[in-house]
Amino acid sequence: MEIVKNLIKISKTIPKNVLLVAVSKTKPINFIRSAYVHGHRDFGENKVQEMVEKHDSLPKDINWHMIGHLQRNKVKYIAPFVNLIHSVDSYRLLLEINKQGIKNNRVIDVLVQIDISNDNTKFGLTYTEFEELIKLNKLKDLKNINLKGMMGMATYSSDLSIIEREFNELNSYFNKYKPILKLNILSMGMSGDYEIAIKCNSNMIRLGSTIFGTRLNN
Ligand SMILES: *Cc1c(COP(=O)(O)O)cnc(C)c1O
Repeated sequence: MEIVKNLIKISKTIPKNVLLVAVSKTKPINFIRSAYVHGHRDFGENKVQEMVEKHDSLPKDINWHMIGHLQRNKVKYIAPFVNLIHSVDSYRLLLEINKQGIKNNRVIDVLVQIDISNDNTKFGLTYTEFEELIKLNKLKDLKNINLKGMMGMATYSSDLSIIEREFNELNSYFNKYKPILKLNILSMGMSGDYEIAIKCNSNMIRLGSTIFGTRLNN
C-alpha cells in the first residue's frame, strides 16, 4: 500500500532521533490502520472530536498528538488519553490542561506553540509572550502538566530562506530555554519543509500529505 511505502521511504531519510508524527486529520480509520499494522504508533489530529472518535475505534497503544488549536472547553475530551499537546498557546489553556490532568490522575505532556511565521493565520505565543509566561514562574505549580518543548510552523512560502530563518530562530530560542526548563522536544516541519526543519535541529516532524496523500480541505 502507498501509505506504508511512503512511511518506509521517509523513515530511511530522517535521522534516528527524529520522531515522525503521521498527521491523519481528515483521513479515514483504515488509512491509520495500515500505518499501524506496519508498526507506526504516532498520529496527529487537529480536531478534538475527530481525535476522540478515532481513538475510540483504534488500538489503545497509539500515541495521539493534538496539533491543532485547542479550545479550553474541549480539553476534557482528550485529557484521558492524549499523548502530547503541541499547540498550547495561553496560560489559561495550561491551567485547564492541568485541571483535567488532575481529574484523570495523569501528567499531560505539552509543547508551547510559538508563532514564528508572518502568516496571521497561525496561532501561538510570540517570543515575548512566552517570556512573560515563564516570568510568572507559575509553571512549577502545575503538577499535572509537563512542558516538554516547543512547536512552530514556518511561513507558507516558496522562499526557503524565510523558512530556514524562522526555524533557526526557534531553534536558538529552544536551546536557550532547554537547560532552564528541561525541554527536549522541538516540533518543527511539515511535508513541505521538514528537511529544512531537521537541518535546523527539529526532532519531531508532523507529516500529513507526504504519507497519506493530499487533503481536499484543511
Ligand atoms: C496539517 C498539519 C500538518 C501536516 O501538514 P502536511 O503539509 O500535510 O504535512 C502539520 N502540522 C500541523 C499543525 C497541521 O495542522
